[in-house]
Amino acid sequence: MALKMRIAIIGQSNFAADVLELLLDRPNIQIVGVFTIPDRGSREDILATTAIIHNIPVFKFACWRRKGVALPEVLEQYKSVGATLNVLPFCSQFIPMEVIDGALLGSICYHPSILPRHRGASAISWTLIEGDEVAGFSIFWADDGLDTGPLLLTRQTNLEPTDTLDTIYKRFLYPEGVKAMGVAVDMVASGVAPKIIQTEVGATYDPAMFKTENQVINLQATAEKIWNFVRGLDSVPGAIATVLHENGTEEQIRLFGAHLYSAGPVSKGKFLRLRGLTKTAWIHSGGLLIEGTDGAFVNIRRIKRGTKVINASEWFKQAEDQSITDFSEDELVKRSLVAGIWKAILKEDVDSSTDFFASGAGSMDVVRLVEEVKETFDVPLQNEQVFMAPVFEEFFSLLVRFLRQGSAYSDDQQLNFQAFTLKANKREIRVPTQLFINGEFVDADSQRTLEIVNPTNEEVLCRVACASATDVDKAVQAAHSAFYGSWRQITPRQRGQLMLNLADLMERNKEELATIESVDSGAVYTLALKTHVGMSIEAWRYFAGWCDKIQGNTIPVNPARPNNVLTFTRKEPIGVCGLITPWNYPLMMLSWKMAACIAAGNTCLIKPAQTCPLTALKFAELTVRAGFPPGVINVLPGKGSDAGQAVADHELVRKLGFTGSTPIGKHIMKSCADSNLKKCSLELGGKSPLIIFADCDMDKAVRHGMSSVFFNKGENCIAAGRLFVEDRIHDEFIRRVLKDLRTMTIGDPLDRSTAHGPQNHKAHFDKLLEFCRRGVDEGAKLVYGGCRVPHLKGYFFTPTVFTNVTDDMFIAQEESFGPIMIISKFNGSDVDSLMQRANRTEYGLASGVFTKDIGKALNFADRIEAGTVFVNLYNKTDVAAPFGGFKQSGYGKDLGQEALNEYLKTKCVTVEY
Ligand code: NAP
Repeated sequence: MALKMRIAIIGQSNFAADVLELLLDRPNIQIVGVFTIPDRGSREDILATTAIIHNIPVFKFACWRRKGVALPEVLEQYKSVGATLNVLPFCSQFIPMEVIDGALLGSICYHPSILPRHRGASAISWTLIEGDEVAGFSIFWADDGLDTGPLLLTRQTNLEPTDTLDTIYKRFLYPEGVKAMGVAVDMVASGVAPKIIQTEVGATYDPAMFKTENQVINLQATAEKIWNFVRGLDSVPGAIATVLHENGTEEQIRLFGAHLYSAGPVSKGKFLRLRGLTKTAWIHSGGLLIEGTDGAFVNIRRIKRGTKVINASEWFKQAEDQSITDFSEDELVKRSLVAGIWKAILKEDVDSSTDFFASGAGSMDVVRLVEEVKETFDVPLQNEQVFMAPVFEEFFSLLVRFLRQGSAYSDDQQLNFQAFTLKANKREIRVPTQLFINGEFVDADSQRTLEIVNPTNEEVLCRVACASATDVDKAVQAAHSAFYGSWRQITPRQRGQLMLNLADLMERNKEELATIESVDSGAVYTLALKTHVGMSIEAWRYFAGWCDKIQGNTIPVNPARPNNVLTFTRKEPIGVCGLITPWNYPLMMLSWKMAACIAAGNTCLIKPAQTCPLTALKFAELTVRAGFPPGVINVLPGKGSDAGQAVADHELVRKLGFTGSTPIGKHIMKSCADSNLKKCSLELGGKSPLIIFADCDMDKAVRHGMSSVFFNKGENCIAAGRLFVEDRIHDEFIRRVLKDLRTMTIGDPLDRSTAHGPQNHKAHFDKLLEFCRRGVDEGAKLVYGGCRVPHLKGYFFTPTVFTNVTDDMFIAQEESFGPIMIISKFNGSDVDSLMQRANRTEYGLASGVFTKDIGKALNFADRIEAGTVFVNLYNKTDVAAPFGGFKQSGYGKDLGQEALNEYLKTKCVTVEY
């Protein structure tokens, strides 16, 4: 049998371990010893661990020589293995010539550049810094110079514009390098390995980039040079720059994620002063933009400040963040406990800059970390919080915040906001009164405020900040940064979990929310609890479930033969969405729209109705507690003509979800078209017909007929705007309605026995009085109400009934949006005419029919022009069922799976193979 070649491997790291594994497969080779570095703490180099698994003798030397002289005991151990070839895959130590020449066949060494260019320890960095067009590696015969020995082989690849130190190493220098080491050893074994003397032409000895002074970037350079320098040090150690703060202090930062930026200077950015840069640098929504000496631009996506890597676009936000520095002794003890948990999971020493994921942790490790921390410290940590704070220092600060607050989701947690205290319903509720932008409560730019009136007693409740176009712009910029930054880091399932957290918090605060809604909008408390708040919670839960089920299709298309083609679609979020809502169900309208919008992966800002924005502000507070990243949800109370209009006009808003009146909806649609052709969905007014046939269940028809009009004091978009009652039961129906109306309890909406509260605000109340006056003037018969409730302060409008209403009357055509029942007769033999009359309106939101004849009911459902049809019931909406109108009641759906599509766009991808 032929003698095996005896190899000593001298080196360290995964690269060397992979070379070892590769050579172990060679039958003509025996690995006789592995020489590597000593353990660091309890952590052994992977090369040693791999060698031990394969029963190969391992030697760990701190150094091989002292004062230039090889250590005899080290030499002796090396000689004991009797190697005929030394293989140095990746070696950071100085190996004495007695060892280099100690093997019969010599020593072969891997070097990550095409020698003789870029000799020295930082060859890969210099390949990029110098803007080389090709990168590569050499395997050479080691001699007594620095990377000067004769070449055995070289390999090269083109450098891509997207390459960084990391990518070139991972995609080429590492995998191809390991393979080439095997090839080189085979060539030596078969006696065909060349020794090509290196030419000195083009040889460079580049400085080592592990020295901090060499990592400082020269910003007095062209954009291309700046770009190359940053990517040459990306991701380790990162190019150093210095920020000159306005207060005269300086801060050293590291730059990552550079790319040339041909879009030129940004108009919306904030200036940042960098030492050595005479040109301009801005923080903008895409990062940090630096102008080179040649007038071209380079953009930096990420910045490391201290131990934390942030999106460069969030520089000014981060600058305001309060990082914890004043740890107590007890907290420092806890710090070592947490470090111990990290260390046990990562199997490496942990310091403040250790990144959980960069150290190799996976999703199971996240679960283990969360469970161990919860068990040790009894805090309600969530998996997604690890993803948001992956660096040890951030993670520990997060934990300290939990511990100091008692609980991250504690109701006692005091966020920093101005509030008014609502004392109602046997409770005291703090309600924020500022705008909510980028995760913080802030004053309006103009300092203007809105007066919020309690409709039950007509007294001013409080004043809240009133947003202007400037505030809208700030919120849009925040939502834009979040959409392209932190929100993208969150997986769909984590997004769903955040929404569930929010729903749970709303559930826990449902009495508070319902109380606010009742006082602010006049909603009856029990209804507010069940519908306004209850259905809001259901909407968040329902859409949370959709987050990880948003899927495209694969589509069979005709291939261009002889090739095959794969076509598939992706459903993608649209971007920043503006939401504008009315005052009738403030929290529910917000939730219907926003839950679908957020589930689809968008970020948003909402302008609630100016008359009752309080539940939206309380909701904003809960989003912080639920863990939503800043900028994802922004809430801006304000006037429609100002803040609302600014949302519709904004060029970075890509979708507008609007609920409100038809005239404003038309106006908004024009603004969407004129500004940037943003997608819009419009949920508008209604004048819904309700048909009651003589063969109905009369009790049910009266009960539902009443609720079809008087539910939520008629401030209900699907309210039956017109009742058609068959002539045979007309009088009986009216008699029973009037009987029930006379016993209806009207009064304080917080009283549990109240069935009918005050109208939302004065202008609306006055409009209802005017509506009734027109009805009377036109000759309709006012059989009940039509006026203020006598002896009651507040906007209490008496539930009203009109009969003898003809089709041409104003009250038959127009929406009242109040508790006004409009009744007309029909003859049961003439259903065709009835259907024409029911459809003779420009609205098409909802409709209803009462009959025991299923044929009649389905015939009605076929022929009615409305987005919703109720048969033998009314007002039955559900978060899973699509909701929206036809004709001038708008288009697009809220709720159900269809609502998701309003906030998604479809991308079609075609691949030839
Ligand atoms: P609205 O007057 O149309 O107002 C709706 C929202 O639009 C409010 O936030 C309003 O701000 C804002 N707005 C006004 N002018 C604007 C502009 N130029 N640009 C952008 N936003 C502007 O309706 P409303 O009186 O509040 O609500 C009642 C109407 O809503 C009724 O017609 C009802 O049928 C309809 N509605 C429809 C549905 C549905 O799902 N189809 C549901 C509920 C209500 P301000 O607060 O400053 O006025």
